[in-house]
Amino acid sequence: MNHLLNADLHCHSNVSDGTLLPEAIAARAAAQGVELWALTDHDEIGGLPRAREAALDLGMAFLTGVEISVSFAGETVHIVGLGFDAEDSALREGLAATRNGRRDRARLMAAGLAAVGIEGAFEGALKYVTNPDLISRTHFARFLVETGVCAATHEVFRRYLTEGKPGYVPHAWARLKDAVRWISDAGGIAVIAHPARYRFGPTAEYALFTEFIAHGGRGVEVLTGSHSHTEQVRYAETAVEFDLLASRGSDFHSPEESRVDLGELPDLPGRLHPVWVALAPRVQGLPQ
Ligand code: AMP
Ligand code: MN
Ligand code: MN
Ligand code: MN
Repeated sequence: MNHLLNADLHCHSNVSDGTLLPEAIAARAAAQGVELWALTDHDEIGGLPRAREAALDLGMAFLTGVEISVSFAGETVHIVGLGFDAEDSALREGLAATRNGRRDRARLMAAGLAAVGIEGAFEGALKYVTNPDLISRTHFARFLVETGVCAATHEVFRRYLTEGKPGYVPHAWARLKDAVRWISDAGGIAVIAHPARYRFGPTAEYALFTEFIAHGGRGVEVLTGSHSHTEQVRYAETAVEFDLLASRGSDFHSPEESRVDLGELPDLPGRLHPVWVALAPRVQGLPQ
């Protein structure tokens, strides 16, 4: 497991809010030159057996993955889990509990949108949903683009789906300590996803990192599709400061919506410790 491996350890299939089948993401990753891949659907690991099989058929090394929705200090934080045992029952039950409530939330989102004249959003979003347990804001965004309410999904989020906007519904996700524990107790490594995306001041961010580590969290995404170069540099420093393993993942969702394609990220700075080196014993499909 070398430092410069083209590892992409964060992306989504249509088992959550991506648009491609797990097999299609695997094929696209391999075609993009990805050498080590993890599928990290939101709160759901149902796509992993198919993803694993497709990866191994393509000769691409594979790690189990998931991205867990967590509520922390009034904000939604995403924790990526890598290299866990996907049969672990506490992890599976925790994820099921985290998914639970998405449908009721979606009904409330649709009611909020109807109140500003956008009718039929629940049924409209459902047209884009392949996993009935996983209705996400992204599916609503696709419907609002389809109906011409907005030109692009990021505009839908800005105008309708973020805090204070008509389709936003606050939700209680998993607790940080539970999410980290489910991953770690299943033999995996927990990683703070896209840290620059949270609206934390320095005090809340410090609390996130220190509590995450206290609960057994070990990694941070330094390179992700949503980090600017400045943010990459900043979180490389944070990884050093907190002695965290560094991860790298595109957060790819779809060819139409994602700016960064699978595997299309810079190399990790040499002074960082890649999470995949620590996970080497958990990697599947390595050449013998
Ligand atoms: P949910 O888990 O239902 O709250 O949906 C969260 C998902 O919405 C994220 O995983 C992203 O895929 C997507 N998302 C969040 N914010 C934005 C944004 N500003 N622009 C585009 N997609 C976003
Ligand atoms: Mn998503
Ligand atoms: Mn995320
Ligand atoms: Mn993601």
